[in-house]
Amino acid sequence: MRVLVVEDEQKTSAFIRKALQAEDFAVDVLKNGDEVLSAVEKTPFDAVVLDIMLPGRDGISIVRQMRERGLHTPVLLLTARGAVNERVEGLNAGADDYLGKPFALAELIARIRALARRSGEPRAVVLRVGDLTLDTVSREVRRGDRAIDLSSREFRLLEFLMRSPGRPRGRMAIVESVWDYDFDPGTNLVDVYIMRLREKIDTKSELKLLHTIRGVGYLIKAP
Ligand code: CA
Repeated sequence: MRVLVVEDEQKTSAFIRKALQAEDFAVDVLKNGDEVLSAVEKTPFDAVVLDIMLPGRDGISIVRQMRERGLHTPVLLLTARGAVNERVEGLNAGADDYLGKPFALAELIARIRALARRSGEPRAVVLRVGDLTLDTVSREVRRGDRAIDLSSREFRLLEFLMRSPGRPRGRMAIVESVWDYDFDPGTNLVDVYIMRLREKIDTKSELKLLHTIRGVGYLIKAP
């Protein structure tokens, strides 16, 4: 089993690394939040132990971005003791579990084992906005009783929007996440795909879910 530990406090990360290695885990350690996404994209870790307070990108926004990109590696967040809002925010962002600092190593190890076990089986994650559902494992999309057939790009675009309902997403953020471009293709690519999605999702329904926010971008929300 291979675990990524992301923690900038040298003492804590060394302590976790030693304990996990003693349990025969392969362990990678990162200190900076900006390095996590590319590491998780490159390596199929069985679990990520992610501190919230990090230099660079913080733990909660890392897990949110992982899920937006369709990366389903199990994440255990390390939170400050008693910080209930951090826990709620972390779980909403897509973390699988959390552990308050300071923690007992035996508990950390037991939780990582439980997460890694679960990661072996594909976990059904059904995103829902109004009567629109998207299953990230079976890749089924339905509006009420009606099954909707999407291309893989349309699916990625819809998943991206459905991961943050009610939040307007700009064209550039969409291009980065759905097409993996880090430049503006300077075309109406996004608008064309939004138009197709809208036709498949909203045209036949009274209640519209996909909205254009002029000058900002697009969002999906239940009426
Ligand atoms: Ca830290």
